[in-house]
Amino acid sequence: MIFDIMTLFPDLVDYVLGESIIGRAQKSGSIEVCTYNIRDYSKDKHRRVDDTPYGGGKGMLMMAPPIYDCYEAISQKRADSGSCRVIYMSPSGKILDHDTAKRLSEYDRLVILCGHYEGVDRRIIDEIVDEEISIGDYVLTGGEIPACILVDSVARLVDGVLSDAECYEKESVSSGLIEYPQYTRPYEFHGVKVPDVLISGHHQNIEKWRHETAIELTQKNRPDLYEKYERRIKLEKD
Ligand code: SAH
Repeated sequence: MIFDIMTLFPDLVDYVLGESIIGRAQKSGSIEVCTYNIRDYSKDKHRRVDDTPYGGGKGMLMMAPPIYDCYEAISQKRADSGSCRVIYMSPSGKILDHDTAKRLSEYDRLVILCGHYEGVDRRIIDEIVDEEISIGDYVLTGGEIPACILVDSVARLVDGVLSDAECYEKESVSSGLIEYPQYTRPYEFHGVKVPDVLISGHHQNIEKWRHETAIELTQKNRPDLYEKYERRIKLEKD
């Protein structure tokens, strides 16, 4: 899967996505991440990419032309390379969740626009963007961190990125519940021992315990998610 990211701060994105599992996935070829500096597409002699908003107001807005030219360059480079979705990271978008990550992982490529300053000229959103995605109800200074979060959440669902499908199928949220508590060595830490069932070797009991604790934790920490889960289970039973 290909991720093309339009940004004013490509180094930030390259660094974050170049490490650990996502970095490895790039090296192995499971995914490709390319960043494009929108400033390179500015026709202004000072390489300006922003200007004051019409109608007044504080701050600067990213201008449409350099973003459009950057987008065009990507489209030409990727001509005929399968299904594509163009996303603008934005606090006014739909909030990212597992279902959205899963849906986006089915595209061949994503083009992601990172805003900065006060955001971008509306006309660029109307012309090139398929959907706006937010990472939560708070405002950040730029779309780079949100874009990294989106790429990370989508890329780990792409075949070959994680070593074993088990790794995400039973994980928090994707199963409809948050994950059961996990323990590793040492057996005793600050006087607290690992629950007996986990060292019993009895797989059925372990599964049962994990399921029950996942339900307890979901009810306590994420009643909204639990309600959805209960509804789904009820539907499956009917
Ligand atoms: N004035 C804008 C905020 C601009 S913040 C408004 O009120 O909506 C600058 C940039 O950071 C945005 O263009 C967007 O790309 C990014 N950004 C900020 N918060 C975000 C969030 N919660 N989710 C995704 N992107 C966000």
